[in-house]
Amino acid sequence: MQLNLPNSFNMARILFVIAALLYYSNGSSQFVKPHIQLKADLKKHILFLANDSLQGRATGTRGEGIASDYIIKQYRDLGLQTMMPYDNYIQPFKFTSKVYLGKKNTLKYIESGNNGNFPLHKAFYPLNNSGSGVAFARAISAGFGIVAPKLNHDDYSPLNKDEIKGKIFIIKVGYPDAKIHSAYAEYDVDSRIDLAIKNGAAGIVFINDQDSAFNPDSTMKIKSNRKNIPIVFCGDKRLTMSRQAKDPVYFIETEIIKEEKTGHNIIAYIDNEQENTVVIGAHYDHLGMGEISGSLHKGKPEAHNGADDNASGVAALLELASQLKNDPKTANNNYIFVAFSGEELGLYGSSHFVADMGFGIKAFNYMLNMDMVGRLDSTKNILAVNGTGTSPGWALLDSIKNLRFIIKKSESGVGPSDHTSFYKEKVPVLHFFTGNHSDYHKPGDDEIYINYEGEAQVVYYIYNIILQMDKQGKLTFSATKDNAENDRPRFKVTMGIMPDYLYEGTGIKVDGVTAEKPAGKAGIQKGDIIIELGNIKTTNMQQYMKALGANNKGDKVPCKLLRGGKEVTVQVVL
Ligand SMILES: [Zn+2]
Repeated sequence: MQLNLPNSFNMARILFVIAALLYYSNGSSQFVKPHIQLKADLKKHILFLANDSLQGRATGTRGEGIASDYIIKQYRDLGLQTMMPYDNYIQPFKFTSKVYLGKKNTLKYIESGNNGNFPLHKAFYPLNNSGSGVAFARAISAGFGIVAPKLNHDDYSPLNKDEIKGKIFIIKVGYPDAKIHSAYAEYDVDSRIDLAIKNGAAGIVFINDQDSAFNPDSTMKIKSNRKNIPIVFCGDKRLTMSRQAKDPVYFIETEIIKEEKTGHNIIAYIDNEQENTVVIGAHYDHLGMGEISGSLHKGKPEAHNGADDNASGVAALLELASQLKNDPKTANNNYIFVAFSGEELGLYGSSHFVADMGFGIKAFNYMLNMDMVGRLDSTKNILAVNGTGTSPGWALLDSIKNLRFIIKKSESGVGPSDHTSFYKEKVPVLHFFTGNHSDYHKPGDDEIYINYEGEAQVVYYIYNIILQMDKQGKLTFSATKDNAENDRPRFKVTMGIMPDYLYEGTGIKVDGVTAEKPAGKAGIQKGDIIIELGNIKTTNMQQYMKALGANNKGDKVPCKLLRGGKEVTVQVVL
């Protein structure tokens, strides 16, 4: 075929005009960087950050270092300022990366002619909130360690308060009524520990003499309310017996070792010498080779590349930084750009950032968080914007020209990402999110699945928000009702499903199921819509959480669901 040059030239011009009109309608006409270049640069960032060689960018690892070097180079190339006192854009923070038992964990009892050494793991283990240390003292039995005036139960009243001080308390983990659905359910192990310490315990040994009672958790967690006395659980019946002997003496030694590492937030600044400062953030850490809790991968360690979670957010962050740096229209605020680390471990980087800002945080106008913005589903075009209730000023969002997305707003300022750290400090926030997918927190969250056209549109949309807000002065903060779905600790039970947060219909649409959790065991499948749980209609997330909250661990409840349009009822053991 012969190319007709003049014609194709005309064609190119027509295409250019159409394209220009499209950009205008998408609100991108104000963008300095051409559309094609923007998409190419987003891709360049994500290709780099989500490469296998970064091994999942776990906080404090070499992969985190390679990623942070890349972000620093981009900031430098853009000519962004470093924020005092952070040298070279880096804000380091220390965190506990691992908690494990040392070699010195011992439990012995000494009685006349009846001494014994309990082997670690087989017979006893320190509890998660035990301190490290030694307790060597006579033991007293403190029953269940419960004082419940309403239930007319007091394990401490028969004991002499002065005599028990400095002793080792033996406490039963069960309930006085020996029921699974006990009237004493609120008196958990933690509250009994607090009460024992108040009564002068030098150490605590929990025992279990009820079949209906669960043994306490034996895993060492990084986050825990650690006390400064040794606290152990002993499952060996000898101890149950010997606590009845007269004045047994116990020797407890616990050694819990914390490993510390350093994570790095990467911060750049545009100082327009204004009173108010806007923070734009995205976390760049991810789940490493799957060693970080939160990974849904099973099997051999594999790099969790986190292209969507959250190389996509970092790419958007860098492009917004580039735009704001080159754009004179946004000079009424100062702008801070933060690539957070430690997010996947529990918002460590953003918590440190707000704590380190101290009173300076009062100057924060608002915070925008981009976490998972790379997988816009172009058949649905739904962009979730969370936090719209955190300021009355966000009402302005409705006037932002947007022909591209269906915006799914949610009011709560609390969610499983870094904006929560700012909301807690009373800073208005928004979190942008293109929705969940089956590769979430798995090694398959790869670059090939990124929708660059979609992400470019997200960048334009956020830029338009920044542009509008720059004319508004400082936003006032408003507190929101917290989304119950992000408030997991309140519930004693979990279904083990991942809800589809973008689902608009009635009920809870299941987007993923953990096989070994209650929903998985009951045969609930991806795509099912839960409409009733334990006779509570689960019309929305609040109702679903209410249904979960109404039950206890071990309850067997009917769960009504829609599967392929048909109603099915399964029995779930929570
Ligand atoms: Zn994330």
